[in-house]
Amino acid sequence: MTYPKQIHINIDVTNKCDRNCIHCASNSDLKNPIDISCEKVERLLKEIRRINSTVFLSLTGGGEPLMNEQLPDIVKMVYNFQGTKKFSLVTSGFLDNDIEKKRLKKTVKNAPDYKKFKFCLSLHSFNSKAMERFEETFKFLLDSGPKNFCVKTTVAPSDDIHSRLEKLFEKYKVYPFSIGHDVWQRFKTRVFTKKVYDEDFENDSLVGFAHLFDYWYVCPDKKKLILVSTQFLSPQGRAKNLKCKMFSMHRACSAIFRERLTDFHIDSNGSYFPSGYCNTKTYPHMTIGTLDEKIERIIDKRRIFVKNMLGLIISDKRLYDRKNDLCSLCSKIKAEQDALATKLIKGGDNDGRTITGRTYWAEQTRQYIWNKLE
Ligand code: SF4
Ligand code: SF4
Repeated sequence: MTYPKQIHINIDVTNKCDRNCIHCASNSDLKNPIDISCEKVERLLKEIRRINSTVFLSLTGGGEPLMNEQLPDIVKMVYNFQGTKKFSLVTSGFLDNDIEKKRLKKTVKNAPDYKKFKFCLSLHSFNSKAMERFEETFKFLLDSGPKNFCVKTTVAPSDDIHSRLEKLFEKYKVYPFSIGHDVWQRFKTRVFTKKVYDEDFENDSLVGFAHLFDYWYVCPDKKKLILVSTQFLSPQGRAKNLKCKMFSMHRACSAIFRERLTDFHIDSNGSYFPSGYCNTKTYPHMTIGTLDEKIERIIDKRRIFVKNMLGLIISDKRLYDRKNDLCSLCSKIKAEQDALATKLIKGGDNDGRTITGRTYWAEQTRQYIWNKLE
């Protein structure tokens, strides 16, 4: 069996967040907080080295990374790992919080090359303090952040976030770096981005898939370039309750359309999911393994998952027109798990162990995918 030369992985640095955004796709709050540890990330990197692979990592999603006190050390470790091709960190920034400010300072210091470590500050209008938080962090980044950095906005219909952003930019003498916006000019923007970030669009998951359009800005006084990327709000997590109309871009199981790129999502608990962009990534029944397992086994399990999905894609209407329902394969897995759960609850657990909730579903899914779908 050959294993991929490069692996794309999204890691949830934590699942906790105190920002309370009403659109949070991860449903993040302070209940049941779990941070990923340096030890777990180290285990992942060792596995990648063992199979002679390289990795594109995104530290994004799940919660606010600045709330994990090990963030600077995690970033340092990933940065110094030879197999890291590139990695990015997305944070909503700090506001009146010296601990988080110091943590961010240490984090950016630990990864000085912006071509290897892409720092992204996110901005969205679904939080009353978003603009204040953004401004405080943006000021810090202009003065002492990485040489170049990114701003990532999420837009919803009737959003004025870009005009508010431009007003703030003017205040700090940050101006549009106009390359134009027709098709040809947009191509030139991409070429320019490639030059600045030495970016491979074919292979950078964040750039290639998530972003709708990119604009460059420049701060001549501080000699900094800022890339503003925009993505649509998608109806996941708490965003599902928003009144504005949204349609998900994830029409089919993303594990399939990203088959070419081996892609995993790892939650802050250290569990693997088959893809980084699936609407069901936070459902425990989709866990395909943990960081304690050999990575070859996880890659194989993902292949099995994708192979089975390909057989179903033509027949399942929900793959084309999903309303956050489960598709056939997941429905099948879940039905089987439910049946097993009923049996177990009636008959008791033969091993005498107490396995509940998340652990239970994770174990059942591992067994199902590994033993039956093969
Ligand atoms: S969107 Fe980000 S900042 Fe807002 S609550 Fe969710 S994790 Fe926190
Ligand atoms: S429900 Fe399952 S099969 Fe459907 S998109 Fe999500 S992970 Fe893929």
